[in-house]
Amino acid sequence: MPNTPDFSPNTDDLLSNNAQFVAQFQDAGLALVPQRHLAIVACMDSRMDIFQMLGLHHGDAHIIRNAGGAVTDDVVRSLVISQRQLKTQEIILIHHTNCGLQSITDDGFKNEIEKDCGIKPWWATEAFADPYQDVRQSMARLQNSPFIVYKDHIRGFVYDVETGILHEVEPDSRHSA
Ligand SMILES: [Zn+2]
Repeated sequence: MPNTPDFSPNTDDLLSNNAQFVAQFQDAGLALVPQRHLAIVACMDSRMDIFQMLGLHHGDAHIIRNAGGAVTDDVVRSLVISQRQLKTQEIILIHHTNCGLQSITDDGFKNEIEKDCGIKPWWATEAFADPYQDVRQSMARLQNSPFIVYKDHIRGFVYDVETGILHEVEPDSRHSA
């Protein structure tokens, strides 16, 4: 598919930004193991700066992001490496209001893709209607995963993109530790 006429790529711009970044670089010597022993799973939404919203610094935490902040097999893979190899023991989930995944349905989106591409995706789109319910489901998936070993400190939040407030979501009592 060709790009739309109004699109121009960013990479060259960003590389010149990186040259300025390198000139002021101060992160040499940071440890591989996150200092707060913390992993965060968040939506990829461009309005959320996870470090900024939580006052985190480089080297503090693993940040694992995808569309929706869904707990997929690949997120579990990253969390298992985070916990077993890199010593994290706490997980924070961050979904948000006005998420792109609220504007599609699993079936509708998959049918659209099949029409365009000739093949139906074999993966779930992880579409949802209610971000609070989606956080609850994600917390339950972590509690139910045999591969996640540290489950005592798992908390979930919905970030309000209009106020910056993090609203905590109580886990479904059927799955709480
Ligand atoms: Zn989102």
